[in-house]
Amino acid sequence: MTVPSPYGWIQKTKNSMALDPINVNNDLPLGKLQEEVHEWIAAHGVRYFSELTNMAQLTEEVGEVARIIARRYGEQSEKESDKSKDLGEELSDVLFVLLCLSNQTGTDLQAAFDKKMNVKRECDHDRHQNNEKLK
Ligand SMILES: [Mg+2]
Repeated sequence: MTVPSPYGWIQKTKNSMALDPINVNNDLPLGKLQEEVHEWIAAHGVRYFSELTNMAQLTEEVGEVARIIARRYGEQSEKESDKSKDLGEELSDVLFVLLCLSNQTGTDLQAAFDKKMNVKRECDHDRHQNNEKLK
């Protein structure tokens, strides 16, 4: 059964696409989150939106975070209608789409994050310590 997608040219084929398992270590925090999102997609989302759609959604969600930060912590005034917006919810929206993109591109986010942190520990060890602007 094909249902029209609200995203135009993308057609969702309901119940015809079993998701391949993802290759992550779910004993580690980010692997566990990747698996949780994958299970949710399989159970409720039918399939992942395309990478391009999710990239656009990631940008949209980052924009929602930016709006809260600019108005609540920055110099923009916060409108009454924005005051109930939950920063944690919007950050979670960013994380959710990021996890979707990781899953659908075969990225082991925990391994990538660990690698990045090692680089930051080794290469950036003195960089911020020597930054006069931070003093
Ligand atoms: Mg949002």
